[in-house]
Amino acid sequence: MAIKDIFGSLVFNDETMKEMLSDETYSKLQECIKNKTSITLDIANEVAEAMKYWAIKHGCTHFTHWFQPMTGITAEKHDSFIGTKNGELIMEFRGKELVKGEPDASSFPSGGVRATFEARGYTAWDPTSYAFIKDKTLCIPTAFCSYTGEALDKKTPLLKSINALNIQAKRILKLFGKDVDNVCSTVGSEQEYFLIDKSVYKKRPDLVYTGRTLFGATASKGQELEDHYFGTIKERVQKFMEELDEELWKLGVYAKTEHNEVAPAQHELAPIFCETNLATDQNQLTMEMMKKIAAHHDMACLLHEKPFKGVNGSGKHNNWSLSTSTGENLLDPGETPEDNLQFLLFLTAVITAVDEYQDIMRMSVATAGNDHRLGANEAPPAIVSVFLGEELTGILDAIADGRTYSKRAKCFFEMGVDVLPKFIKDTTDRNRTSPFAFTGNKFEFRMPGSSLSIAGPNIIINTAVAEILCRFADTLEKSTNFDQAVKDIIKENINDHKRIIFNGNSYDVSWEKEAAKRGLLNLRSAPEAIFQFKAQKNIDLFVKHNVFTPFEVKSRADIMLENYSKIIEIEATTMVEMVKKDILPAVTLYINDLMTSLINAKTLGLDMNMSAQKHILERLNNLYNSTVEKTEKLEEVKIATTKIKEIDKQALSCRKKLFTAMEELREDVDAMETITSSKYWPYPSYGEILFSIR
Ligand code: ADP
Ligand code: MG
Repeated sequence: MAIKDIFGSLVFNDETMKEMLSDETYSKLQECIKNKTSITLDIANEVAEAMKYWAIKHGCTHFTHWFQPMTGITAEKHDSFIGTKNGELIMEFRGKELVKGEPDASSFPSGGVRATFEARGYTAWDPTSYAFIKDKTLCIPTAFCSYTGEALDKKTPLLKSINALNIQAKRILKLFGKDVDNVCSTVGSEQEYFLIDKSVYKKRPDLVYTGRTLFGATASKGQELEDHYFGTIKERVQKFMEELDEELWKLGVYAKTEHNEVAPAQHELAPIFCETNLATDQNQLTMEMMKKIAAHHDMACLLHEKPFKGVNGSGKHNNWSLSTSTGENLLDPGETPEDNLQFLLFLTAVITAVDEYQDIMRMSVATAGNDHRLGANEAPPAIVSVFLGEELTGILDAIADGRTYSKRAKCFFEMGVDVLPKFIKDTTDRNRTSPFAFTGNKFEFRMPGSSLSIAGPNIIINTAVAEILCRFADTLEKSTNFDQAVKDIIKENINDHKRIIFNGNSYDVSWEKEAAKRGLLNLRSAPEAIFQFKAQKNIDLFVKHNVFTPFEVKSRADIMLENYSKIIEIEATTMVEMVKKDILPAVTLYINDLMTSLINAKTLGLDMNMSAQKHILERLNNLYNSTVEKTEKLEEVKIATTKIKEIDKQALSCRKKLFTAMEELREDVDAMETITSSKYWPYPSYGEILFSIR
């Protein structure tokens, strides 16, 4: 199999369109995409006909509008191509079915945008993302909105934010004498995940219901030896990766790098970056494929941010940059960044945006699952900061202080062995601890959790940067001395926002204090971060750039909070069930065993020292009683929490009370696991799960 032959074979891409559409329709469609104008029914009819023909040739029987509701995963409603004409069976797919769908929207989260009785929702074809084939079904990427026009999905605001960024970036480039057709943000999202054997997965109700282990004592071996990172890939995993790559290539996803990650059973996939809308669709597809293909290999793919306590969680690095239709990367510093005013201006815009909108940057990654990661010494902390490295910090500092920058000489990197190549050393080392790190010609946003749709974070970055570029353009368009005005803007903004720049170790405890001194936000929990969404300054931002209406902001914040509460409640319920139905009965059996041996020793009149058995028995009995008490408490707290009507208060109570009660219960259960015979313990242990793939 040559990659070339299969790549994009299941995508109705440009090449296929060129081949299958008339020249006239093809160019009209391209015009509509480029000028962002609506597609006429004539064009839609011809495209639909071609799509149908192509899809049926590939064995499809159905089509679906593929959309991204606020659940964070994708949704589809399949329709078959069959129809009748004069009593005969025909295969049909009309233009109007391509451009518009009407799924019943009543069961998707809307945050009050749509009452349940107003079930009507529309999906609308997004011609900027190619249709593709999955499970013998033609999938048409679509936006999803309510009857009254509010967005009910993640794609619509993402497209709006891409548009806002395009408008503002073009204004700036025009001032630099560049008239480009389009500027878009580009994204490459590295995806971390765990693979475990299906048999152990199925035995853990917590993994099945919540995606993470709610109990589990630490295994004798975890990631201490750091022997899994970049280690040799096990054969079973290798086979999974091969199939995954192949399926993703067929779908036009540029799956590029696959390697083992830090924790046992943890892996990563990185694609080659592309335009943000496509990258978002492709990341959703990648996650879906990972789960599906894992099942082919009798494995379960865990996309949860923290499946195992005490073992690294999974993130999703969102690499972000800006690119023009002429192929220029606007965050590429070039050979002499100190003289590259255009680059420095865009860089300053990003820094300013991240500082001013640090609250919603944090909000964009706020989920119940990600709360376990941020600040847990494995992922960046909950404090947003920017890593620039020495060279760029030096250049910006010099401009801010009105000094000339004294360049550091490039130095060669030598291994001390003649046969090995010499190369120019990078001017800065990498910083793996920064939440938002400049990595050569792009920024890497490291806070998103592994299961998150990247639409959210990119909506925020795009819109915040658009706003700052807009302000810069407003000033520069009026200036008489352009170069001086650019330098003044850089100077002023770097001085105002340099508190966000931090090149040190973000995992260090001293950073928390330092960040507080600098006035940076430290929003530790998801609810606290989500509250920020509704701040007036943020509503103003979204309204100004036509990304969200005030109503949409409020409803989205409510959906996020509700989702947070529901997840914690499901976890609490699962814990109670596990304790009552499996754990306590199992421990009872073991206690009984221990008691029997004590009785036996006595009955036989043996003069044996049974103090160790007695001690274990006592300890187990204490933990047992305390587990019963804590389970009852958890149930009470849960009932009280679910009764709270206000969404904000309920989420806070879930965090402060319910989650705390869960943590307390876990402590006892994990302690019991360490002293209960594995013969009785009802679930596979951490060791059995993490090392289940051989
Ligand atoms: P790592 O962070 O693990 O060292 P790489 O340097 O290989 O990884 O790159 C990470 C990701 O960044 C890849 O998905 C890559 O395609 C993406 N990337 C590279 N250049 C850009 C860019 N200009 N815009 C967006 N993403 C980019
Ligand atoms: Mg990375």
